[in-house]
Amino acid sequence: MANRLTLAQRKRVARHLNTRASAPRCPMCNASSFRVRPEVSVLGPSDAADDAPLRAANVVCGYCGFVVQLDCDVIGLFDASDTSAAAS
Ligand SMILES: [Zn+2]
Repeated sequence: MANRLTLAQRKRVARHLNTRASAPRCPMCNASSFRVRPEVSVLGPSDAADDAPLRAANVVCGYCGFVVQLDCDVIGLFDASDTSAAAS
């Protein structure tokens, strides 16, 4: 399981934000300087075989540090058809 995003995957997260939502603005400081981090956060039980943990892409406000997390499965970031995931 990849715990880091490739550059192509980070661009895909940014594209998701720009197409599914309005131009992202920080809810804390209203800046529009979000950056997609390469690390993937794993939330929930990682040892339970029958309940896969949530994997989240982290998007950070470059001004105040507020962190937005997006579910990688909802975005389709690790879909089998996504060849960019194989590089990581
Ligand atoms: Zn902010």
